Amino acid sequence: MRVMKFGGTSVRDAERIGRAADLVVSALERSPVCVVVSALGGVTDELEDAARASARGESVFAARCAELAARHTEVAAGVAKGAELEALRLHIEDCFDALCKVLEGISLVRECSLRTLDKVLSVGERLSSAIVAAALRRRGVVAEHRDSSELITADRPFGAGRVDFELSYEKIRSCFADHPATQVVTGFLAATPEGETITLGRGGSDYTASLLGAALQVECIEIWTDVDGVLSCDPRHVPEAFPLEHLSYDELLELSHFGAKVVFSPTVHPARSKSVPLLIKNTLNPDFPGTRVEESVEAGPHPIRGISAIPRVALLRLQGDGLTGVPGAARRLFSALSTHDVNIILISQASSEHSICLAIEPAKADQARSCVNEEFTHERSVGLIDDLVVDRDLSVVAVVGEGMSRLPGVSGRVFGALGDAGINVRAIAQGSSELNISFACAAEDEKRVLRVLHDAFFSNHAVHIFLAGVGGVGGALLDQLRETADRDWSLSGIANSRRMSVARRRLDPALWVPELLNDDSAQDARLHDFRDCILDTPGRRVFVDCTASDDMEELYPQLLRRGVSIVTANKKPLERLASWDAIRSAECGGPGRLFF
Ligand code: ASP
Ligand code: MG
Repeated sequence: MRVMKFGGTSVRDAERIGRAADLVVSALERSPVCVVVSALGGVTDELEDAARASARGESVFAARCAELAARHTEVAAGVAKGAELEALRLHIEDCFDALCKVLEGISLVRECSLRTLDKVLSVGERLSSAIVAAALRRRGVVAEHRDSSELITADRPFGAGRVDFELSYEKIRSCFADHPATQVVTGFLAATPEGETITLGRGGSDYTASLLGAALQVECIEIWTDVDGVLSCDPRHVPEAFPLEHLSYDELLELSHFGAKVVFSPTVHPARSKSVPLLIKNTLNPDFPGTRVEESVEAGPHPIRGISAIPRVALLRLQGDGLTGVPGAARRLFSALSTHDVNIILISQASSEHSICLAIEPAKADQARSCVNEEFTHERSVGLIDDLVVDRDLSVVAVVGEGMSRLPGVSGRVFGALGDAGINVRAIAQGSSELNISFACAAEDEKRVLRVLHDAFFSNHAVHIFLAGVGGVGGALLDQLRETADRDWSLSGIANSRRMSVARRRLDPALWVPELLNDDSAQDARLHDFRDCILDTPGRRVFVDCTASDDMEELYPQLLRRGVSIVTANKKPLERLASWDAIRSAECGGPGRLFF
């Protein structure tokens, strides 16, 4: 048996539900399947929003319920017909009648406890599971929908139920033994020991899938989503990010804690405890193999597996003479933060013990400042500890991979690449499991950091060539490039005095210069724009100056200092002794070199 879990984007509308149902039908040819579904895409957010609006006293309940009911009815009509559709309509009506009363109640008392919110949110999965089961029956599958609150017991807190594994596993096994039909189970929901609806946390349907898979010891838990798997990096920042074929459970956890939110983190535990692999697949590209996650994974071709980031954190620094060699200072700091519900993202303390540095969510920074200052009132009054320093607008970036444990040189490469790119690192943490090197940098540097590191670890290190001047000498160089078969270089920018063309991906030197410079992506040439493109490109870069321009004097040292090499056929910038000296001193020590 396998578990197939479909997330909100995979059951967004009738068309997507049809695709998901087709995937289940073809999987059923190989083995039995247990289906787990999220609410239709966006529905949980809308339910939460309706509850919050009601708690503010807005009487939106009737309108919101009508909208959501209409959407579900439309989707139901797209997947079912006749008596089946009639039954779905009734189910939808019942759910929204009940929901409307709850929301009205919330708006009267003007408050929505987490307990009530869980009741509101549960509607999404209760409806999507019924609709998906109908779509399967339409395809001839003997399918029934099942409320996971019958199967999973979880205790408070509401909104983040804590699962009783053994009891839940027993209930799941006995239910599946009694019900041979294909079960379409609501994700996200459970019941408290008293039988009240509770949710497992936003994104919790993955967790439900994992609990069912562990209880039933299935061969595989498939998480169907709308991306090709876990990616090496955030593709919005790094277009070269690629899907990872294999990950260990630990690597998945490290990556999912840090922004790459493909899977809800608690999902790992049940699967790992019963050695069931997780497979992350794309509903929109089902033939793609996806990412397979299991306990031990062979080392890949790269020393690290992926890079991820938490944008926007605040960094706290507690420092002072009164911290060195004083037991209990760290305990007081952490317990002050924990009593105010401040979650800590990163911790770093050097062996001098003179300061402790923590990264936290920025929304909690003010609270953190006041509670820590209060805790250390006495020490502050006698000058033993300074006021807590709070730095905002930072990001935490994590480089993750089991392959780096006991492999010397990984952190050297991380910080070397950042140093070459002129990026300042504010705090560093690496645990002795050596799975993750995390550090804080300025939020505005985050994108560049991700690009530089992705390039340092994953690119084939082609040299990027930026050519200025396409007359006699530049033109001859282009001819030579066209004839070189060996492509460990890439033409990444070209300019004459009027036009320039720069590419995130390589330009084709086989194109003639007029095509390169007159194509849509070309722009008017401005030296500082050309310079910025060179500097923003990660990796090894060469600026080739085939101009006879007088304006290059300042540019050369700027490029050299940032690690860009220069090959020049232009003697103008080298004519004055002062400028020659500036170039030589910029060259000194860095990777950028000048060749004439
Ligand atoms: N529908 C829930 C949510 O959006 C659970 C899930 O999708 O996994 O958080
Ligand atoms: Mg989800």
